[in-house]
Amino acid sequence: MEFRFSGLSMENSTPQEPVKVLILGSGPAGLSAALYAARAEMNPVVLTGMELGGQAALTYTIENYPGFPEGVGGSQLGELFQKQAERFGARVEIDSATSVDLSQRPFRVTSFNGQFLADSLIIATGATPDHLLIPGENELTGRGVSYCATCDGWFFKDKKVVVVGGGDSALEEGIFLTRYAKSVTIVHRRDSLRAGQILQKRAFDNEKVKFIWNTVVTEVLGKETVEALRLKDTVTGEERIFPTDGMFIFIGHTPNTGLFKGQLELDEGGYIKTDTLMQTSVPGVYAAGEVADPIYRQVVTSAGMGAAAAMQAIRYLEENTKEAETTLEP
Ligand SMILES: Cc1cc2nc3c(=O)[nH]c(=O)nc-3n(C[C@H](O)[C@H](O)[C@H](O)COP(=O)(O)OP(=O)(O)OC[C@H]3O[C@@H](n4cnc5c(N)ncnc54)[C@H](O)[C@@H]3O)c2cc1C
Repeated sequence: MEFRFSGLSMENSTPQEPVKVLILGSGPAGLSAALYAARAEMNPVVLTGMELGGQAALTYTIENYPGFPEGVGGSQLGELFQKQAERFGARVEIDSATSVDLSQRPFRVTSFNGQFLADSLIIATGATPDHLLIPGENELTGRGVSYCATCDGWFFKDKKVVVVGGGDSALEEGIFLTRYAKSVTIVHRRDSLRAGQILQKRAFDNEKVKFIWNTVVTEVLGKETVEALRLKDTVTGEERIFPTDGMFIFIGHTPNTGLFKGQLELDEGGYIKTDTLMQTSVPGVYAAGEVADPIYRQVVTSAGMGAAAAMQAIRYLEENTKEAETTLEP
């Protein structure tokens, strides 16, 4: 059976004409890049990956994206980004890249549904916060379970929250949460922290921060929102129920860069290295959003990086086309 999808097919899957700007990822970075490339009449193609709208679509409300004084639904914002890019001619394909060859131009991207040739590539495949993988975690994400204090801290004014983790992020974000929360309890599976000494001192000195050592969370309990956590002592094996209004998980963040290993320079955390112009180690390949940003990790910053990457890709194509024309002149 021939599997046909959006003008490509598995039997004849290499399009004749390279796509001018191919974008991997449909989160804020990818769709903002698509908008800018589309308005420059580059007819960009976006491969959505498995998460249409990206991580932002996983959250119920986003209150810190400018232009929405009352906040906006996470998936609604993704739909608006997509509509705006499509209005100017971006083509959004429900498809994922499975391998890439960046050794020569046009770049070659193989996907579940076919193959693409691309004159320029914008990688916006994002990152994934590491999950505990326990019952109730997915169901209550956005309803008390969070992976982002900047995004969700405000919802926990005068509430009790738990932070899971023992590294720099857990302590930094835990201390940040004390601006809002009545108490922040850090649950850590060991009896000492990995975080730096200065952060440890700040946390120990903060009267709102408490610690539960040698303990893991094994279940998130609650109907509509988080009501309590089931905790297990890693030494005695004893279990108990710990009432809380929320749980913030900071046990790591994994950039979605497996496809690019060995082809692009990555940093020690696996994030794609870029210069200030979003340029990767391969000319014509740009990276934007969380895939290249271990620091800010916000919708607005990712969208900004996406726009910048598209502007650079457009400049790159213009310059390279001019160069090619000049070389061809007698
Ligand atoms: C629960 C939650 C709540 C959040 N709340 C807020 C908030 O309130 N405010 C805020 O500013 N930020 C918030 N964030 C963070 C924000 O969502 C991210 O910073 C932002 O989405 C990053 O955008 P991005 O485009 O770089 O990557 P992502 O949003 O991670 O998108 C990555 C995209 O790449 C695609 N992809 C992955 N692999 C492939 C592949 N092989 N081929 C093609 N596509 C691929 C995925 O399907 C996805 O579409 C929240 C995050 C989470 C998890």
